[in-house]
Amino acid sequence: MQPAGRFADARASWDDAQFVIVGVPFDRTTSFRPGARFGPDVIRQQSWNFESYDLETGVDLSEVPIHDLGNTDEYGSSADMVEGVREAIRPIYRAGKLPIVLGGDHACAPPSVEAYPDGGSLGVLYLDAHLDFRSEYLGDGRSHACSSRRMVDRLGARNVVVLGVRSVSKEEVDDNKTVGMSFISAHEIAQEGIESAAQRALNMLKTDRVYISLDIDAIDPAYAGATGTPEPFGLTARDVKYVIDQAAPRLAGLDIMEVSPPWDSGNTSALAARLAREAIVRVVAHRRGR
Ligand code: MN
Ligand code: MN
Repeated sequence: MQPAGRFADARASWDDAQFVIVGVPFDRTTSFRPGARFGPDVIRQQSWNFESYDLETGVDLSEVPIHDLGNTDEYGSSADMVEGVREAIRPIYRAGKLPIVLGGDHACAPPSVEAYPDGGSLGVLYLDAHLDFRSEYLGDGRSHACSSRRMVDRLGARNVVVLGVRSVSKEEVDDNKTVGMSFISAHEIAQEGIESAAQRALNMLKTDRVYISLDIDAIDPAYAGATGTPEPFGLTARDVKYVIDQAAPRLAGLDIMEVSPPWDSGNTSALAARLAREAIVRVVAHRRGR
């Protein structure tokens, strides 16, 4: 692990912490415009923008035990990254803590899921403009274009649901007809409303625990344009807040990927930091019975 700036309010020791922040400054599989390797540190910087007290829940983050582990290595290859991220995340689950992983490109997400203890039953809410369902991309099965596929390999098709999709290849869709991973497109969500769509997605996942993998490009470029492959007609920032709030009682872990600071006015990284804080606040509120 490499030292990094600290996430706001992350003052607890490893032993005391219930929530653990980890940065993965890796974007070697980015296919269009790079920069997500700078995501973890800039999201941390932006996290200091916010008050520690949460108006909606009454939770004060300055009283919540959060530890910031720093960043993993930058890694030379996706294979090294996968191994390194698994090793970094495994002890967090093993200690009964909740990991919050800041990317990095979306290739960094599957190893955070694969680190979940063997035999444990985990569902994934996968928020993305893209299906990320290729078997391999440019010769790399660990490309960010393959991340939902790798999670399905690990957890089974019924335990991964994708929300917010609006950009796919015909091959991915055809391929998925035999695999059967569920997805709810951004257009369906706009039609039926996020309340119904989030409920449907959470009902599809039969596992006790749910992991959220958030590709920031799930959110419309109007709110989150600083990303590798921006895609119009996306979810609102508030839609994603709602999904996090609804999943909080079952939350096992969260990642936020593909924030690309070189393209940012500061708004996208601030939103990413705020959504990470939202997840913590809502899990704490649930544990307190609020
Ligand atoms: Mn993705
Ligand atoms: Mn994407």
